[in-house]
Amino acid sequence: MYVGGKWIEKNDKIEVLNPYDGSVVDTVPRGDASDVEAAIASAERGAMAMSALTGYERYQILHRAAELMEKRLDDLGRTITLEEGKVLSEGLGEAARSLETLTLSAEEAKRLGGEVVPLDGSSNGAGKFGFTLRVPCGVVAAVTPFNFPLNLVCHKIGPGLAAGNAVIVKPATDTPLSALKLIEILLEAGIPAEAVQCITGSGATIGDVLCGDPRIRKISFTGSRDVGEHICRVAGLKKVTMELGSNAPLVIMEDADIDQVAAATAVTGYANAGQVCISTQRVLASEKVYGDFIDALTPLVEALSTGNPIESNVKMGPMIRESDAERVSEWIGQAVNSGARLVTGGGRDGQLHEPTLVADVDPDMRLSCDEVFGPTVGVSKFKDIDEAINMANKTNYGLSAAVFTQNINWAMAFAQRVHSGNIHVNWGTQWRADLMPYGGLKDSGMGKEGPKYAVQEMTELKMVVIH
Ligand code: NDP
Repeated sequence: MYVGGKWIEKNDKIEVLNPYDGSVVDTVPRGDASDVEAAIASAERGAMAMSALTGYERYQILHRAAELMEKRLDDLGRTITLEEGKVLSEGLGEAARSLETLTLSAEEAKRLGGEVVPLDGSSNGAGKFGFTLRVPCGVVAAVTPFNFPLNLVCHKIGPGLAAGNAVIVKPATDTPLSALKLIEILLEAGIPAEAVQCITGSGATIGDVLCGDPRIRKISFTGSRDVGEHICRVAGLKKVTMELGSNAPLVIMEDADIDQVAAATAVTGYANAGQVCISTQRVLASEKVYGDFIDALTPLVEALSTGNPIESNVKMGPMIRESDAERVSEWIGQAVNSGARLVTGGGRDGQLHEPTLVADVDPDMRLSCDEVFGPTVGVSKFKDIDEAINMANKTNYGLSAAVFTQNINWAMAFAQRVHSGNIHVNWGTQWRADLMPYGGLKDSGMGKEGPKYAVQEMTELKMVVIH
């Protein structure tokens, strides 16, 4: 791990396992509270070094980092696949997206500015001149999940550095390797030695020490709802961005192109074995097309071959841990025992869970109302647009939602009335461009990512009045 301006080894190590066969990909040190203390003390100096750089200098460093990353995309993509288990095309795809995120962040370093505030519009403002300044927060803690181990780190470290902060990254314990390679790249690109820190170690052990420390001025967290809520309680008075989970709904209106919906569901429900925060989980289909949709989707799900994700013919890899695959099987079993119908899949071999389709899912079943985060899609029926919107909203989550229709009025009603941070018309819930504002409502979190929006959240606004 990289702490206090140097690479650190320890005798106490964590094995990073390949989720497909359990082989050891590499080992990383097990960081503890003393490492967190060293990282924060060092990051405070790093923040001073960052604030001394001009926006153009920050742009140059991040741009150079992007150039270095471009030369290493193949290695980064393979590392992602080895530590996370997504198929190689998705690992390489994530590496390419990470490059875009870093490039977008570099650009934002040049655009941080305030605005003139027209104080003479105020009853007491005559003769005054007012303007705002946007300044870095100082030290940012970035806590990231396993499922996009590089791009989600880039979404925090890129804007954090662009905005002139120092950033301490705590990657997921299962998948720290690509994040460490990113730190190498940033250092080679010339980032001040103490401006980045990367502590490997269990969140349950070191999370509170990191997130509760008052020297951390901003926490950017992506992960599960429960850990997010815990961090908010521990954080105290500091800025937080929370990118949490969901059980994203996809609504099929009666006029939808069923083949298009089926193709989109096969992609957006099963990519990365369903371990995507915006994975299509709840398909809500008009009763008029319900049967046709299931008939169209079933062969596509059955065609998703599972196996070793590094092999190019494999379409879906393992889940991150066996306990997660067990949980998904259990929820499917509970749903089927309560009256849902298993259309295809349902089986499991260790961490490799079959792509699964379940019909006649009742919205109160756990398979529908909790976040599944696995390769299974449940289908339920509705009568009209009002019922569809009510069902889509009947959840504590609100990260992404989709509707398939040719009717602009239905599309607009859906966009306006569904409580979700992202709305898609005529594609599934799992779609993101890295430049767009991205973040959830309700229990899916607060704040936005996307470099342009994240730099706003990673800076403070100061007001200056000249009398
Ligand atoms: P977790 O919430 O289990 O872990 C996320 C991170 O938090 C890890 O680095 C973890 O460390 C750390 N952590 C755990 N406990 C604490 C603690 N007490 N204090 C501080 N940090 C802690 O999520 P997963 O990694 O399992 O990721 C899956 C979840 O992430 C899903 O719910 C998914 O929806 C969500 N997600 C949301 C996204 C969004 O943009 N909204 C995008 C991607 C995923 P460790 O690994 O050591 O336990």
